[in-house]
Amino acid sequence: VAANWKMNLLRAEASAWCRAVRRELEAVPARSTVLVFPSFPMIPDVAGELRGSVLEVGGQDLHPEDKGAFTGDVSGAQLADAGCAWALCGHSERRHGHGEGDELVGRKIAAAARHGLAPMICIGETRAERHEGATFSVLERQVRSAVSSLGDPEGRRFAFAYEPVWAIGTGETAAPETAQETHGFLRELLGELLGAERAAVLPILYGGSATAENCPSLIAGPDIDGFLVGGASLDPGKFLGIIRGSD
Ligand code: PEP
Repeated sequence: VAANWKMNLLRAEASAWCRAVRRELEAVPARSTVLVFPSFPMIPDVAGELRGSVLEVGGQDLHPEDKGAFTGDVSGAQLADAGCAWALCGHSERRHGHGEGDELVGRKIAAAARHGLAPMICIGETRAERHEGATFSVLERQVRSAVSSLGDPEGRRFAFAYEPVWAIGTGETAAPETAQETHGFLRELLGELLGAERAAVLPILYGGSATAENCPSLIAGPDIDGFLVGGASLDPGKFLGIIRGSD
């Protein structure tokens, strides 16, 4: 279960969040792996607050190059140095808000790998693509491109997050049957690309207006392994509700 804070929270709020979530998970451990993706300026503080806990930290984006004249960007080396273990690659707000295509997302996945960061690879169709019946072809293109960028996936830690663009931040969650149908398609495709054994244990998270209320019916889908959570992750109580509802 992963919290994507996007461009939210100030340092004091982030620190209070870390203390609350850490305290609760130390009192009552969760079965889920729990990740948090803070905005860049907060990463060192958050990593410090969470050191020695079960929570892992990731960057929301990274530049495909390792260093250089890229004003405003952050490298994989800098994320790793700041305490990250993960990097989001291809979030829809990067794909659609910043025009990032599969080729650039692939270079980011490769950059994450070079720096020992596990990529959380985000994929998803737009509303128009779903209406056109193009959902599976869009996802297949995104997945094939991402997997080819991973290099040798043997022994590598990574995960996919299926996030229908029309469900992100809209309050319009995918129906459990729709989400499971899509995750089932993804599991099969990943089986073809990575081998059935690896695909069976590869985490495929759902993202898109997940809440403590709707996550139990979504997690009941056999191919839904967890959640990438935006809005509801900002409140520690709501986020913990999703963790508990996923266990
Ligand atoms: C996200 O940003 O990855 C996300 C799923 O956002 P929300 O939960 O707000 O829809």
